[in-house]
Amino acid sequence: MRILVIGGGHAGTYTALRLERLLRAAGAPRAEVRLVTPEPYLTYRPLLAAAAAGTLSPRHVLVPLRRVLRTTRLLLGEAVSLDLATRTAYVRTPAGPEAAPVPYDALVLTPGTTPAPPPPHALALHSLADALALRSHVLAQLDLASSTRDPAVREAALCFVFLGGGCAGVDALTALRAMAERALTQYPGLHRDDLRWVLAEPGERLLPEAPADAGTYASRALRRGGAEIRLGAAPRTYRPGLLVLDDGDSLATRTLVHTPSAVRAPGAPPHPLLTTPALPLTPDGRLRCTRDLAVSGTPHTWAAGDSAAVPDPGTPGATCAPHAGHAHGQAHVLADNLLATLRGEPTRPYDAKNEGLYVALGPHDGLARLHGRTLTGRPGALLLRAHHLSRLPTARRKGRVLTEWAFAALFPREPVALGTPGTEPGEPP
Ligand SMILES: Cc1cc2nc3c(=O)[nH]c(=O)nc-3n(C[C@H](O)[C@H](O)[C@H](O)COP(=O)(O)OP(=O)(O)OC[C@H]3O[C@@H](n4cnc5c(N)ncnc54)[C@H](O)[C@@H]3O)c2cc1C
Repeated sequence: MRILVIGGGHAGTYTALRLERLLRAAGAPRAEVRLVTPEPYLTYRPLLAAAAAGTLSPRHVLVPLRRVLRTTRLLLGEAVSLDLATRTAYVRTPAGPEAAPVPYDALVLTPGTTPAPPPPHALALHSLADALALRSHVLAQLDLASSTRDPAVREAALCFVFLGGGCAGVDALTALRAMAERALTQYPGLHRDDLRWVLAEPGERLLPEAPADAGTYASRALRRGGAEIRLGAAPRTYRPGLLVLDDGDSLATRTLVHTPSAVRAPGAPPHPLLTTPALPLTPDGRLRCTRDLAVSGTPHTWAAGDSAAVPDPGTPGATCAPHAGHAHGQAHVLADNLLATLRGEPTRPYDAKNEGLYVALGPHDGLARLHGRTLTGRPGALLLRAHHLSRLPTARRKGRVLTEWAFAALFPREPVALGTPGTEPGEPP
């Protein structure tokens, strides 16, 4: 039995890990698991902002797949097309431009979603290289503001605009703001009130992937820290120095950070691999799935994570929001169901309400939503860290991250620029 997992992100990696564990527990493994992924590591994205802000070493954000996966065969490359009838995926590897056929008996699709390209000159936050570039950029603006005599340059250097009010945008703004404020001790001419932080969200509220009360809490926490929130705001034009919003308002800024939007709009382009004929797609370009994580009406095909539209029974007609909690929880159930199907046993539905949502709101504030209850402030931040520790693979990595957090609480890190915009992911900064 050949199981092929496409995508080594949250959903794909945790599916492979769970399959390994189940197959080991069952005794003689009768299935071979292969994972196709362009990078040999999982980028643990909920910790990217912490790496950008320097509250966590960048190396902890990248989880080396060859180390954590024991029996799964890693196939480095990109799946470029699928033939569902013959059960073959075509994978382009670094070895050459020709896509090689990879036959399978069961297919797991977890390629995530392709982020919309950032506006020209804007900074992105999707990879570790982006996070390090963002850190260097923010610190460079403090250097610029402290060394110029031109008030217009200073004003633009000290205004930081984040686009996108999902987990990623909220986490990034609060983390970078805390880092910049810590750095101010090194800049006697700059004061906390000189810095301007703006979060622009095209939708009607923050954290669209979470219930409304979570968005309200995030708004309050951001405003308490002095950030401005612009709802219903999207950029019309941007060049370093001037951002014009589509309501005509303009901001003097040299920093526009584009964070991925959590909720996809109808008509959003699907991941190129999902345009394979016969794969059922929702209007927002995700794979239509059953609650058992099978792709609807498509035999031998399963899906989880951001690219899967899995029904959320808590809200009739709705599907699970794209966040790491669901990606992880779905991976677990998917692996169980896939093996249950092979054994002719019944499957079980994914229960969306068991999976939590965790969003950092700065070093000492966090939002943790579990079983319908929301914990905020320091308890929320503690639960969030406990959650990440429980999710990070290998005891050694958990130990290192825990030690680092404990040590940083006693001896806070000095904000220092790490890496440059040219730094490649995985390279030691
Ligand atoms: C900056 C940032 C911060 C975030 N913060 C939070 C947070 O605080 N809390 C939270 O719950 N969620 C957060 N999220 C969302 C969370 O990271 C995603 O919901 C989660 O990663 C989805 O998992 P996934 O496996 O579906 O996709 P991904 O993790 O994106 O993985 C997809 C994988 O598939 C690979 N792939 C793509 N195409 C192909 C192909 N053709 N062939 C082979 N492989 C392919 C990609 O390289 C990638 O490895 C954040 C996201 C970002 C970007």
